[in-house]
Amino acid sequence: MKRWSLFILTILFFLTVSCVNISDEVSDEEKSETIGIMSAMDVELDYLLSKAKISHVKEIGGNTFHIGTLDGHKIVLVKAGVGKTLSAACTAIMLNEFDISKLIFTGVAGGVSDDVNITDVVIATSLMFHDYGYLNQDGIVELDSDFVPKVFLNSDKSLVDLAYKAAVDIVGKNKVFKGLIVTGDQFVANSSYVEYLDKELGAKAVEMEGASVAYVASKYNVPFVVVRSLSDKADGLSHEQYENWYQIVADNSGKIVFELIKNL
Ligand code: SAH
Repeated sequence: MKRWSLFILTILFFLTVSCVNISDEVSDEEKSETIGIMSAMDVELDYLLSKAKISHVKEIGGNTFHIGTLDGHKIVLVKAGVGKTLSAACTAIMLNEFDISKLIFTGVAGGVSDDVNITDVVIATSLMFHDYGYLNQDGIVELDSDFVPKVFLNSDKSLVDLAYKAAVDIVGKNKVFKGLIVTGDQFVANSSYVEYLDKELGAKAVEMEGASVAYVASKYNVPFVVVRSLSDKADGLSHEQYENWYQIVADNSGKIVFELIKNL
């Protein structure tokens, strides 16, 4: 008698467990679009990885793509690496291999304009390369070429609005800015160059991946947004500032993207 009841209880237990799994899969299936989330460094992805349910990983071209769900939304998370080449290559692989309908970049950046401070957040409404062009005696002269035009790559407006709202919820309204983010293959730690980025280009922040990701995403017609928390002011002190702040602000950027995903 005891054996039989144990047997029935075991069957009931497994039936309950499998029902829970089935209903989980169905609810994930309902949100059919897949969101791509990228960063340059591990520290910028760790918070989101800790919140996601990762079902499997795929290694492609030296990149590790984490596939799963985040708050019930299908996601692919990847660390692209630092700089324009690695981020462009990774974006192209991601958009070729996965059916991504929205692309979000999360990470840290140097603040450019006077009104932004370390720990503030800049949401890119547009992006451009700041280091593509002629280098003459006066410095860089921006190039408008057939290959990489000096275009302003525009973020998706509704993603910008969602990111802005999420950032305000996480860090407060007076710490969130929208504007131009400029991208180049240098960690900027130079007060006269940062003044050029501010006065000549009108940038709010400088980093090393955003415009590359935006460039590839726009070639694939995939809507994108770049969210950056400021780790430094890109001036003579930026190395020390970066070392003190990058972990804290990288986490903040991840928290903002998690909030954005919840509101999708
Ligand atoms: N610690 C890394 C290098 C990080 S470079 C290593 O050892 O390899 C800085 C990263 O943060 C880049 O991904 C860039 O996008 C961003 N960033 C932060 N502050 C920056 C600044 N002042 N200029 C350019 N990029 C900056």
